[in-house]
Amino acid sequence: MKKSISENPVVKEIAAARQTAWVNPGKKPWKEASTEILLTGKDIDDAEARLHRFSPFIAKCFPETADQNGIIESPLTPVPVMQKYLEEQYHAVIRGKLFLKQDNALAVAGSVKARGGIYEVLKHTEELALDAGILKKEDDYSTLASEQCREFFRKYKIQVGSTGNLGLSIGIASAAIGYEVTVHMSADARQWKKDMLRSHGVRVVEYESDYSEAVRNGRQESDADPFSHFVDDENSRDLFLGYAVAARRLKRQLAERNISVNEDHPLFLYIPCGVGGAPGGVTFGAKELWGDYVHVFFVEPVQAPCMLLGMATGLHNKICVQDVGLTGLTHADGLAVGRPSGFVGKVMESVLSGAFTVEDKWLYEYMRGLWDTEDIFIEPSSCAAFEGPLRLEQYAKTREYLERNNLTDKMEQAVHITWGTGGRLVPGDVREEYRNTYLD
Ligand SMILES: *Cc1c(COP(=O)(O)O)cnc(C)c1O
Repeated sequence: MKKSISENPVVKEIAAARQTAWVNPGKKPWKEASTEILLTGKDIDDAEARLHRFSPFIAKCFPETADQNGIIESPLTPVPVMQKYLEEQYHAVIRGKLFLKQDNALAVAGSVKARGGIYEVLKHTEELALDAGILKKEDDYSTLASEQCREFFRKYKIQVGSTGNLGLSIGIASAAIGYEVTVHMSADARQWKKDMLRSHGVRVVEYESDYSEAVRNGRQESDADPFSHFVDDENSRDLFLGYAVAARRLKRQLAERNISVNEDHPLFLYIPCGVGGAPGGVTFGAKELWGDYVHVFFVEPVQAPCMLLGMATGLHNKICVQDVGLTGLTHADGLAVGRPSGFVGKVMESVLSGAFTVEDKWLYEYMRGLWDTEDIFIEPSSCAAFEGPLRLEQYAKTREYLERNNLTDKMEQAVHITWGTGGRLVPGDVREEYRNTYLD
């Protein structure tokens, strides 16, 4: 490793595996930042319209979505008792109102991956069907759920590399459409996730190494087969846009609660980050709507802060956490990623507010806290989000961020949204096991 990198104070702190906060020095006013990003609101419109076209098909394939007319969306839930619990338990002050965006409850995939993952599979499906002439854009897309169409899709393959949840999302959705699916699972993936996929008829290939290796192998195997589409978590623009649609839906939910986001009413989002696609896409969608009035922080495990490392060094996917002596190992399987997406890191350079890192043991504490106070279960990876509102006014660096952005006096009117990224599909016995993990 180059000396200049190892002497970077941020890298030193990351390498020591201590909990820390980082404020992005490259953040720019949205007016300027937006001109540097190649994607625009039009791209999000297009993704949203596509999800709408597919809604009759989704409703038919996944009856659990019928009461939402085939739109896969999660509730925005106030969590005042959790807020109080965090303040009391950790001697913190969380000014403003705390909410949980419950992507843990999303239909079909039970995680935020239901957004990007399913979107990419649908987009690919639309392309194949339009090309083959079995679909026109004006058609009712529920015709794609017919036995003839399933037969057509059976000729095609979908592959993906995953630490677990992306595999579940792609696997369950693709298998329902008719594709032959292969999920390349990293060593961190939990057993129940592999079992569940196999029960859906998905081929699961297991690796003894980490996520990057699973992705590399999956990509190779897929690229060698002209009938196979690889869902590329590290580079996919489609995944990213599927996640970005979340902000549009969130805006409506805030409006329903008479919450406005403006200069005097700042919005804070705290999103657990793995390779970066999900939090990056949500961030882009949120910036496109609220510009400088929304402040986004990612949260990563102390042993796998790949996005933070990539952004702080400017090296993005050219550096991995192992390069600075970290293990990349964490109980937070959804965040067990050593090397970030270069594409996402580049987009985040001028828009992300900052990041926090968290030790695994706190994930279980926050998980139990939420369960006990609000009767909501989310998986350990998701719980990383709570580190954000809890620490925002504790670290000197983030306090200074608030000061510099004239937010200090507005925090009573702030809305904090922790992104609950997964949980619904976790079996009962595994939940119990999580409940008993890291009990001191
Ligand atoms: C995948 C995942 C994340 C992070 O998403 P990335 O796109 O990998 O950054 C966070 N939480 C959970 C539960 C996940 O499954």
